[in-house]
Amino acid sequence: MIQKNSDPDSAHELASRVVETLCMSLKWEEKTIDASITVGVALFPLHGGSRKELLANADLAMYRGKSEINRSICVFDAGMDQFVRDRRALALELRRAIQDDELSLALQPQFETGTGLLAGFEALLRWYSPKRGSVSPTEFISVAEENGLIIEIDRWVINRACKLLKLYPWLPRLAVNVSAKAICLSDLVADIKSAMVENGVSPKRLEIEITETALIHDLNRALHNLRQIKALGITVAMDDFGIGYSSLSMLSSFPFDRIKIDGSFIQQVGNNDRAGAIFKAVVGLGSALKVPVLAEGVESNAQLQFALLAGCQELQGFYFGRPLPQIDLPAMHFELAGMMNIDAFKLWQDRRLAPAEQLASVADLALA
Ligand code: C2E
Ligand code: CA
Ligand code: CA
Repeated sequence: MIQKNSDPDSAHELASRVVETLCMSLKWEEKTIDASITVGVALFPLHGGSRKELLANADLAMYRGKSEINRSICVFDAGMDQFVRDRRALALELRRAIQDDELSLALQPQFETGTGLLAGFEALLRWYSPKRGSVSPTEFISVAEENGLIIEIDRWVINRACKLLKLYPWLPRLAVNVSAKAICLSDLVADIKSAMVENGVSPKRLEIEITETALIHDLNRALHNLRQIKALGITVAMDDFGIGYSSLSMLSSFPFDRIKIDGSFIQQVGNNDRAGAIFKAVVGLGSALKVPVLAEGVESNAQLQFALLAGCQELQGFYFGRPLPQIDLPAMHFELAGMMNIDAFKLWQDRRLAPAEQLASVADLALA
């Protein structure tokens, strides 16, 4: 709405009244739906001289407000315009990057605690841009999600994962991340099926990782696809468990094959007793549901010992296995000579990282 008033306080007051009036709980088919709204505010003449410009800037402010948790009113500022332009530029480059084959996968090992053996790998997307250098997925995945490019990316990842499984028969399992948009697509299951058939890959070696946020997006469609994926024999893991709003209800909605406890819990062990207690409770929950629990983000020996003592079934983390460029896989397999267990990987990684660390410490000494 446009109000002829350029006073920031009264604009804020009006926005608060709109929020108060429209935020409500609705009952629908025995379910309670909590509606929340976000109001973007742009002031005349500070944020625009025309109706069109004001609306466009209020729109930008609204989207910025939506991207933040618990922000129902957001006032435009000039930095937002730049932020949106930067993201548009990144999206354009990303579109080209997919065509120019600048994407690749890094593989991070996952281990069984009982045997210490390699359980599989998680495929993590990497983008090396000749212009920007290496761009973190935390930066470009959200851009891709905003403009739908993520669907093409997820499809690319599934295809590439199946090719890797064909190329390296010794890879026990490869887990791929699937986004909220892709998991709701009607042709996702057919795409997965054809990638597997084309590469002659057994479904048992493929895993789909899905976060709670991806499910909330459109629960019914997502569940429909997940059931079909599971019926093919592919396992489904719940990713980032514990950081969402309704992780528990998600567990009752679908029979997940694995729970991945978000790394933030194990990383707080030692400083935060509550995080440790939640970690143990999740492992207990997994054992009650007969669903194996994987601890993500293990970075130290103390964290490893904690996870072992808590009784979780699988482990993943920088401590024994950083994500490895796909191109290094054959050398890693050759150098490990079939010793695919946690100790051998850790030794191999420590040796691999040693020269860089030694160089860093020499540089530190020189600077001191
Ligand atoms: P995620 O699925 O939770 O992946 C795990 C992230 O934690 C990875 O970051 C990984 O490098 C990092 N990590 C692993 N071990 C440790 C550790 O011990 N300590 C710490 N601090 N971090 C650790 P990365 O590769 O930057 O990926 C970030 C996120 O981007 C992923 O989080 C996932 O949500 C998304 N992502 C990555 N690849 C894909 C993809 O192919 N498709 C989709 N849709 N999303 C992807
Ligand atoms: Ca993941
Ligand atoms: Ca995760």
